Amino acid sequence: MDRIVILGGGVGGTLTANLLARRLGDRIARGEVDITLIDAQGAHVYQPGFMYIAMGGEREERLSRPERSLLDAPINLIVDTAVRIAEAARTIVLASGAILPYDYLVLATGSRIVPEEIPFYVRRLTGGWQVICWALVLSAPLTATVAGVAAATTGLHAGPTAWLGFAYVSVVSMFLGFFAWYAGLARGGVARVGQIQLAQPVLTLGWSALLLGESVTVLTVGTALAVLASVAATQRAR
Ligand SMILES: Cc1cc2nc3c(=O)[nH]c(=O)nc-3n(C[C@H](O)[C@H](O)[C@H](O)COP(=O)(O)OP(=O)(O)OC[C@H]3O[C@@H](n4cnc5c(N)ncnc54)[C@H](O)[C@@H]3O)c2cc1C
Repeated sequence: MDRIVILGGGVGGTLTANLLARRLGDRIARGEVDITLIDAQGAHVYQPGFMYIAMGGEREERLSRPERSLLDAPINLIVDTAVRIAEAARTIVLASGAILPYDYLVLATGSRIVPEEIPFYVRRLTGGWQVICWALVLSAPLTATVAGVAAATTGLHAGPTAWLGFAYVSVVSMFLGFFAWYAGLARGGVARVGQIQLAQPVLTLGWSALLLGESVTVLTVGTALAVLASVAATQRAR
């Protein structure tokens, strides 16, 4: 008897098992061929549906079916995890300790996402604040050099108030502000919270008029209102 073992009950394994069972139906009926599918979960998950979960149009439980219900009757199903393939002996060792012999083996165990292996990939686990700090440390040699050259060649002169303002923008707006901003994005969602940034021109106008006494023309007010109207329109269109 020819023993066909298929490892994996995803799209690849399930299709292969059913196609083989249909092609070899006569030989299976005569006891000449045996088809066994091994799957770790015992459930088939329709992965393309994941996208619809993200968009809120699908539920997780609707994307999974018992593997048995998808396999043709003559196919044997073993729900277990293969831990080793002994090629020379033509056997598969399962997590339960069982050893399954095969004559033909189909490997359909899918793939695993390993983003850490992408060069320069920053792992999500690294955390936002570490990324911000490392970005500043790594860019410091460049920014310090450019600032030094600019200061030396342009005869930089600034009073204490200007330096205080510079320090405030550097430490509070460009450094500490990021912590609050990214924490807000993480909590409320990038798409929703990111819209707040569009209110920046309006706030800038308001504060510049209030704190610095700058004149606000009809044109600038009109532009600010147009920006606000676009934000409101995009929110309603979602
Ligand atoms: C969001 C998303 C959208 C997609 N959209 C499309 C699309 O539009 N069109 C398209 O063609 N493809 C699409 N794909 C890809 C497609 O879903 C996959 O390529 C396909 O599901 C892979 O099937 P597979 O059988 O190779 O692996 P899998 O479906 O991953 O199945 C592998 C099976 O092997 C089992 N297994 C693994 N290791 C062992 C072990 N040691 N012992 C026992 N069992 C084991 C697992 O339990 C699993 O059931 C999409 C994927 C995703 C995530």
